[in-house]
Amino acid sequence: STEADADADEAATLRTPIVAVLGHVDHGKTTLLDKIRGSAVSEGEAGAITQHIGATAVPLSTISEMAGELVDPTDFDLPGLLYIDTPGHHSFSTLRSRGGALADIAVLVVDVNDGFQPQTEEAVDILKRTQTPFIVAANKVDTVPGWNPNEGVPIQESMEQQSERVQGDLNERLYGIIGELSDHDFAADMYWRVQNFQNNVGVVPVSAMTGEGVPDLLTVLMGLSQRYMKDEMQIDVEGPGAGTVLEVKEAQGFGTTVDAVLYDGTIREDDEIVVGGLEAPITTDVRALLQPKPLEEIRTDQAFEKVPEVSAAAGVKIAAPDLDDAMAGAPIRVVRNRDRGRVIADVEEELAEIEVTTEEQ
Ligand code: GDP
Repeated sequence: STEADADADEAATLRTPIVAVLGHVDHGKTTLLDKIRGSAVSEGEAGAITQHIGATAVPLSTISEMAGELVDPTDFDLPGLLYIDTPGHHSFSTLRSRGGALADIAVLVVDVNDGFQPQTEEAVDILKRTQTPFIVAANKVDTVPGWNPNEGVPIQESMEQQSERVQGDLNERLYGIIGELSDHDFAADMYWRVQNFQNNVGVVPVSAMTGEGVPDLLTVLMGLSQRYMKDEMQIDVEGPGAGTVLEVKEAQGFGTTVDAVLYDGTIREDDEIVVGGLEAPITTDVRALLQPKPLEEIRTDQAFEKVPEVSAAAGVKIAAPDLDDAMAGAPIRVVRNRDRGRVIADVEEELAEIEVTTEEQ
């Protein structure tokens, strides 16, 4: 059994917080997600990360490995972080769970050269409206003229090693971003000065290119979740699963499938499920639950493997009949031993809420 398994067992009823990455186009969302995946993988341990459908799980053991002295793993009992792989606020605002945002926490990526741009403003408004706690990744610090990169090092350590001129230049840009956050009624500061992340937004200078500050980013997200979200992460992991559709797509040999993120309970191979549809809720039986095969095992075009069950929080591909009318952003509920009519009513109610929110935008 791996360290990651041990972490998961210890926190059996505490699920992984779901993290979304938002920000203006070209500010580095995709590069940052790739860097998190890449640096976790280069830590070299088996189980350093797990690739889910539409999401990447970084276990606590990997975060503490990457963060070095920034993290004392005994301070945490949440099992790690689950990143939604599709960045951007359009997906964020359509991905909801029981009236809130699907993501428990967000990273707002802002290019230190560009500052706030139209999509940054939109993202901040959405985060405010959905009351989603977030931190700011002030990205591309390596592009400050004269910057000496220190691959993967905590950011304060790297900042201390820069010339005074470079430090001054970066600080000016960072305070620009802090000012813009303040214009949107968010009291923000450099993350190492923030005492209470409920009242203040922490700004983490990073380079998605060199990985500087990435350990800090993971540490702050972990700390924030642990400190303020532990109650919300408490789930009945054996209970009937609840999730949100990310995408509806064809999968070879399985017909129309839905890619979903499960945020509560468990879904099993033989479960009856209700999925939000274009016309009405769809009631169907799970035919297969699929997860990506580990990279080294993909020899043919069959990139998925069947699993008997999946527990929150996780990404999963669900194969079932009648999914053609399923909608991205719609709820999924496992019926199991509950009254089917009630579950359908719940899904209908949630769909109505989503439609109202979409019209407001
Ligand atoms: P997205 O549209 O927000 O997903 O942005 P991308 O991740 O596609 O990044 C846009 C461009 O900025 C790409 O050319 C990246 O290589 C570059 N980029 C992203 N992060 C950094 C960084 O930290 N430093 C530097 N120098 N370039 C970066």
